[in-house]
Amino acid sequence: MITPKIPKNEQDRLNVLKSYEILHTLPEVDYDEITQIASLICDTPISLIAFVDDDEIFFKSHHGFDISVSPRETSFCGHLINNSKDLFIVNDASKDERFYDNPLVTGDSSVSFYAGIPLISPEGFVIGSLCIIDHEPNELSEEQRKSLKALANQVMKLLELRKKNKKLTESLEKEKELGELKSLFVSTASHQFRTPLAIIQSNAELLMMISENSEIELKSKLKKSTERIRNEVNRMTALMDDILVLGKINSGKIQVDKKRIDVLTLCIELCEQHSTIQHDGRAINFSFSGTPTEIVLNPVLISHALNNLISNAFKYSLTDNPKLHLDYKKEALEITLSDQGIGISKNDIPYLFQTFYRGENVRNISGTGLGLSITKEYIELNNGTIKVQSELNKGTIFTIILKY
Ligand code: ADP
Repeated sequence: MITPKIPKNEQDRLNVLKSYEILHTLPEVDYDEITQIASLICDTPISLIAFVDDDEIFFKSHHGFDISVSPRETSFCGHLINNSKDLFIVNDASKDERFYDNPLVTGDSSVSFYAGIPLISPEGFVIGSLCIIDHEPNELSEEQRKSLKALANQVMKLLELRKKNKKLTESLEKEKELGELKSLFVSTASHQFRTPLAIIQSNAELLMMISENSEIELKSKLKKSTERIRNEVNRMTALMDDILVLGKINSGKIQVDKKRIDVLTLCIELCEQHSTIQHDGRAINFSFSGTPTEIVLNPVLISHALNNLISNAFKYSLTDNPKLHLDYKKEALEITLSDQGIGISKNDIPYLFQTFYRGENVRNISGTGLGLSITKEYIELNNGTIKVQSELNKGTIFTIILKY
């Protein structure tokens, strides 16, 4: 008997084999079906899918052979990986100097005929074989050889697929972990900011009260500074609120209780509120068409979404009155909010609903780039859609569709 040699590239070969994570795994139908077909086609009692490990052969599938591992030093596959990148065939092992006194030939297994197709990784390493065994000397026809090769290709495809699936599962798990970490960070950070902001705010108010009793010059200086502090604190608090809301939406923790609501009344109220707080006398021009119908929605989320759009319409236009129109169509309510303001560049449109995205023409207008992403999420949580049309320096139209 001649024991198989260890190939020169053994370490690299083993690394590639291990990368499939196939060794010592349980039997699987896909592999078992391949060995069954191999035996049928070649009319042999045994067919194996074998992987050549460090010092043993692992049989992922062993049709007609009741063993799942055997020593490498007495194996036929050990020879196959050195000998050939094509078919390795032993027609009669009892007459072959490498195998005639091999225990697999002389013992209970009584191997006589062996034919193996190497399983070759894309990098070119022979990691194992698809082989057939007979207890009598035998030969293979050209068709049988071709079929065995095709089956060996299928084994390699299964192995590659397994590797890809594993990578995909791992990256999905990593993404999930990162997402959870992000939500935790966002909610912790925004809660942590709340206390210092409240302290700054109450101290600013205290300063304001002290300033009431100060001399005129000091009083006006203190007033300016405290107002600046108050404005910035309000801005940061609003920002923190928005980030917290987005974190909740992303982690699926937002509660959406819906009920039948009258969107017409809700919009009229919103228009009145916004029109009364404008310092420049502007107001919203409101109109509607069709027959008002109640819709099942969450009123808080819808109001918040419309508030964001209306504030933007005032913020990004200077002199005109934004227009809010409700059109009760056959199957859905279409809400349009239009202004004749600075408009949005074509390049910005695709990214507008992304968090923190701000248009190229709003550098000197304050904002955070969060309002539209929250608005979109709120509309979608109510099974609605939102889209935007705009032209630079002409104006912008946001359209929301809410199905009845
Ligand atoms: P913010 O207004 O705080 O920047 P938003 O998320 O509400 O954030 O809006 C994102 C960007 O969309 C804005 O920075 C602006 O570039 C653009 N935008 C939104 N509404 C309008 C509008 N009515 N007119 C012009 N640009 C708008």
